[in-house]
Amino acid sequence: MKISLICASKVEKNGFPELLFNYFRDMLIDLRSDTVTRPTHEMREVMHSTTVGDDVFGEDPAINALENLAANMFGMENALFCPSGTMTNQIAIKCHTQPGDEVICDELSHVYQYEGGGIAFNSGASVKLLQGDRGRITASLVNTGIQPDDVHRPVSRLVVLENTANRGGGSCYEWKDIQEIELLCRQKGLALHLDGARLFNALVAKGQTPEDYGKTFDSISICLSKGLGAPVGSLLLGKKDFIKRARRFRKIFGGGMRQAGSLAAAGTYALQHHVSRLKKDHENAKSIEKALLEKPFVKEVLPVETNIVIAETVEGFDLAGFIEKMKASGILFFAISSNRFRMVTHLDIDDNMMNKLSEVLKNID
Ligand SMILES: *Cc1c(COP(=O)(O)O)cnc(C)c1O
Repeated sequence: MKISLICASKVEKNGFPELLFNYFRDMLIDLRSDTVTRPTHEMREVMHSTTVGDDVFGEDPAINALENLAANMFGMENALFCPSGTMTNQIAIKCHTQPGDEVICDELSHVYQYEGGGIAFNSGASVKLLQGDRGRITASLVNTGIQPDDVHRPVSRLVVLENTANRGGGSCYEWKDIQEIELLCRQKGLALHLDGARLFNALVAKGQTPEDYGKTFDSISICLSKGLGAPVGSLLLGKKDFIKRARRFRKIFGGGMRQAGSLAAAGTYALQHHVSRLKKDHENAKSIEKALLEKPFVKEVLPVETNIVIAETVEGFDLAGFIEKMKASGILFFAISSNRFRMVTHLDIDDNMMNKLSEVLKNID
């Protein structure tokens, strides 16, 4: 019966008939992103038993608890639960800028590359792109990007850092570099926002603390639905007045949710139980790096610092063919350009899968 259903399926998903894809989901080694994690049994249990209310009225106890927990963790005044990290970043940029202002960030930044031109669309602001090192910028680079006080120019208003830097292959900032950028921002009257979609990966990798980040940034966005393994949700952190304005923009952007407490409960569970285990994802990423470096078709692997592996292939290599072959063995990942591919480790990648991956890689060239 199931087989006939599978065969009847015309809808394709990642090259598999959709039903087949869903049926064998648990066996796939899905390295496309850390967003593919599904809530664990324990997480589902807390989601199931959560008391909820109308969050637009401020009456959802689970959302209020999550916002308080996160604000306390970072020593920041307040937090706002949103459906996505794109929304928390875009709301932050909206709060910090006026139309005609300019946002300074690295050219690989998610806020510039992957948020649909939202800086222009939502905030009417322009962007000054800097060429950093694997997605990270420095105070001296930021300094070169600050516009002079001149009627011809946009007004430099906000600096956005990303940590870890996604397109930088999960690279992390050194604390000293962040401090120098903060100092410059204070001197020049610029606001400082952190796209911390994977900040917890950086904290674990570098042994840094959320409190230090809370003291340094005007606003911080963190994702619960990446390596932390919650199904949905991000948090924006900041001062009380800032979050009050952010709450207004969340409503305007259509992000005011009602009984979303089950999602927040998953986020709380993730913050309490899934942070220190990120170390395991980093170790797995390291062993993927090692296995890839043994393949003659791999030219280089960006230094692996957290849970993202970006590899570059040698000239003339059939990357699309390699991805297809791996897919046939149940291993999924993306090309991010004609000669680069990305693999991301996460909560749903276990030791068995790592063993299988290394075996499949051994037998492919
Ligand atoms: C995933 C991600 C976001 C937010 O993405 P959503 O899918 O909107 O939650 C923001 N910044 C970075 C660096 C990311 O990787």
